[in-house]
Amino acid sequence: MCQPAHSTPLWSPPVGGPVEAVFAVDVLRCPGCGGRRKIVAAITQVAVGRAILAALSLPTEPPAVHPARGPPGLFEGESP
Ligand SMILES: [Zn+2]
Repeated sequence: MCQPAHSTPLWSPPVGGPVEAVFAVDVLRCPGCGGRRKIVAAITQVAVGRAILAALSLPTEPPAVHPARGPPGLFEGESP
């Protein structure tokens, strides 16, 4: 559950922004009560983010990017 915002945040991402458009998820909507969450802190330095991830034993590098594959059955010998 979240606490209702009683003060005006310094900045809020626009509703219907790119994250919501791609994932169909409003990350600022509380799933418990439906209220609006507010951003209270942001990590802007990569080194700080990596240090936090390392302390949590989480990967500090993004996963490798692989090329997209073609549709099934496009290549000879491949079953659709
Ligand atoms: Zn809530």
